[in-house]
Amino acid sequence: MKINSIIEFVRDVYNTSEFIPLHAPTFLGNEKSYVLDTLNSTFVSSVGKFVDDFEHKMEAYTGTARAVATVNGTAALNAALYLAGVKRGDLVITQALTFVATCNALYHLGAEPVFLDVSRVSLGLSPVAMENWLAENAELTEQGAIHRITQQVIRAAVPMHTFGHPVELDELIAVCNKWNIALVEDAAESLGSFYNGQHTGTLGEYGALSFNGNKIITTGGGGMVLCKTAELGVRAKHVTTTAKVPHPYEFYHDEPGFNYRMPNLNAALGCGQMEMLEAFLQQKRNLAERYDIFFAGSEYHFVKEPAYAKSNYWLNAVICADGDSRDELLLQMNNAKVMARPIWKLMHRLPMFAQAMRDDLEQSEYIEARLVNLPSSPSERLS
Ligand SMILES: *Cc1c(COP(=O)(O)O)cnc(C)c1O
Repeated sequence: MKINSIIEFVRDVYNTSEFIPLHAPTFLGNEKSYVLDTLNSTFVSSVGKFVDDFEHKMEAYTGTARAVATVNGTAALNAALYLAGVKRGDLVITQALTFVATCNALYHLGAEPVFLDVSRVSLGLSPVAMENWLAENAELTEQGAIHRITQQVIRAAVPMHTFGHPVELDELIAVCNKWNIALVEDAAESLGSFYNGQHTGTLGEYGALSFNGNKIITTGGGGMVLCKTAELGVRAKHVTTTAKVPHPYEFYHDEPGFNYRMPNLNAALGCGQMEMLEAFLQQKRNLAERYDIFFAGSEYHFVKEPAYAKSNYWLNAVICADGDSRDELLLQMNNAKVMARPIWKLMHRLPMFAQAMRDDLEQSEYIEARLVNLPSSPSERLS
C-alpha cells in the first residue's frame, strides 16, 4: 500500500487540505454558555454547582458508585494510589508501554514501578505476564504479596486501557485477588469504553479518568477518580480537598491532603462536553470502521477492539510490518502535514525508571518498534 494513498484517505475523511492534528477538541454544544454562566456568577473556583453536576453525570454514565473530579488525570491517579494504600518503598505493577503519567503518579508517593509485558489482544497489562512474574518473584504473607528478595510489599497493580481498548479485566482481577494486590485502573484514555458491558475504571477499587485537551472529552485540564463504593468515594473527596473536617469556620485537617479539586470553571466545560460524548463516540467508531476497511488486506495491521470490549477508539493505530516501514510512514505523513505519532518510548528507557524491575517485555518491544497513531478527532462529517 502506498503511503500517499493513506494520506489521501485521511484528507478525504476530514475534507481539508490544512494541517490535520492527531486529536483536536470541538465545542459545538452548550460548553460556551455553561462556561459563561460561571463567569457571570463569579463562582469560577472551588465553589459552584458544575462540579457536583459533572460528577453526577459521570456517575450516571459509568455506573460507578462515586466520581470525584480533580485538576487532571495524573492527580486522579496519584490520589487513587494513595487511597489504595500505596506507601514509600512499595512496589506497584504496571506496563512499560504507557504514558509517563502512570509512573509519575506512583513515583511521587515514593513507590517503585515494576514493568511487565502487555497482551497483544489489548495492548494493556498481560494477566499471564503478571501471574508469571509474581509466581517467580513474590510470596504471599500476612502483609500481602512480598518481593522475595527485597521484601518490598507489592501493593497495587495499574493496568492502562491503551488508546481506549479495555484490558483483560476478569483475568487481572483474578490475579490481584489471589495475591491480595489492589487494582487501580488507569482509564485516562478510555471514557466511553466498556468491558463486557461494564465501564472501564469501575471494576478496580479505583479508576482514573483524564479530561486533558487531547482526550475524548476535555475540561481544559481535568481528571476524575472513580470509586468502587460510596465509602471509598467519601474518603476520596476528603483527601483530594485538603482533608478538612467540615466545620462552619474552624480549620482542622485530619491527614495530609491534596488540593486536587477541579475548579467550577473547568467543570462547566465538562458538563457541556458530557452532553456531546455519545455523538463523539459514534463519530469515532465510524472513523475506526473506515480505517479498518481501508487497511484490510494491506501490510498495515489496524488495531481493533478486543472481542469482549466496546472501545471508544480514542486513538486509532496501525502496526507496521517492521521498524523501517514505521519510520517511513511517520516521516511521510508528518511531511504532508497529516499528523502521525509513534507510541511512547517504553518506560524503562527513561532515566528515572531505568533501574526498575521488569520482565522480558517482548510484546511491548514489538509494538514499540512498529505502532503508529493516526488522526482520530471526532468530526461531524463522520456522524
Ligand atoms: C492522559 C493520560 C494520563 C494523565 O492525564 P493528565 O490529565 O494529562 O494528567 C494518565 N495516563 C494515561 C495513560 C494518559 O493517556
